[in-house]
Amino acid sequence: MFADIVGHSRALDLLARAVTHGPAHAYLFSGPASVGKRSIAELFARTLDCSDRRADGSACGGCRSCRLAASGGHPDIRLIDRSFGADERRSRPPKEIPIEAVRSIQRDASLSPSMGPWKVYVIDGADHLSGPGADALLKLLEEPPSPVIIILVCVDAGTLPATVVSRCQMARFGPVRVDDIERFLVARHGIAFDQAATLARLADGAPGMALALSTGRPGAKAPPSGIAEAVELDAASLVDRLRSAEKIAADHIRDRARTEERLRWLSLWWRDVLFACCGCRELIVNVDRATALDARAATISIADARDALRAIDETLAQINDNVQTRLALELLMMRLPPAA
Ligand SMILES: [Zn+2]
Repeated sequence: MFADIVGHSRALDLLARAVTHGPAHAYLFSGPASVGKRSIAELFARTLDCSDRRADGSACGGCRSCRLAASGGHPDIRLIDRSFGADERRSRPPKEIPIEAVRSIQRDASLSPSMGPWKVYVIDGADHLSGPGADALLKLLEEPPSPVIIILVCVDAGTLPATVVSRCQMARFGPVRVDDIERFLVARHGIAFDQAATLARLADGAPGMALALSTGRPGAKAPPSGIAEAVELDAASLVDRLRSAEKIAADHIRDRARTEERLRWLSLWWRDVLFACCGCRELIVNVDRATALDARAATISIADARDALRAIDETLAQINDNVQTRLALELLMMRLPPAA
């Protein structure tokens, strides 16, 4: 029924039974970020409202309901997250989902469905509901109008009030296996196997993260440059490294997350160099750069690679503590082992 989804067979069995035998009024999807919870919630909603389900129970993909759901314009399927009512120009979403979001669901849920048999509300990031928002949600869960299904999606169910959790059917989502993510990237997204192998290892069990990495950050069009930039920096002279530090510090004013991302790529490169130094090739993440890693490892000691990793970690912590970014980055460039 959910043939396009990678991993999560237990949770999917539960949802397939719900489609066949009738769904509960409330579900709680919990598990790590980017493992596919939100996509599965949306697909579940689409399947429930499909007017022409296939014999295996899956959504047909072609009926009016399916087409509207795919375009995000289905009148009976609504997705709510931290961007509810927020100013789109802000670079970070607000901290909380406001009570107004739950109130808008309450108003909408009192109306009959316009098309399908069910009105489905997906609240993504339910662990970010404000206190009053969670209270209002509880009222809705206590007396849900009959054709209403609420799907709460969160990372840690323990942060939600027990009264809310107890009214939901739980579906737990764990990390997806590396080989499952590899197959998903190759078969579904046409990514070359070498690159898929690297992305799957980087993704830490999260297919969504692997996909985001394959295209840069979500929404970015350029191919991934993170590891290429880290390799370039490692091969650069001190003068060029200091120039990079200046540039990264300038970008930092507009986009702090980008700085952290760059340092994490650099850290990942040095982690792989360290493993290459120790001869632990099976632990290397950037498997498509094994030759370059071996060459770099031949030029330095294990202690050098370890110190490089420590220096990057310390710099990350300093930048998060709002230490002068440019100074911290310049110091880092001087602490990293010189180019071979
Ligand atoms: Zn359909």
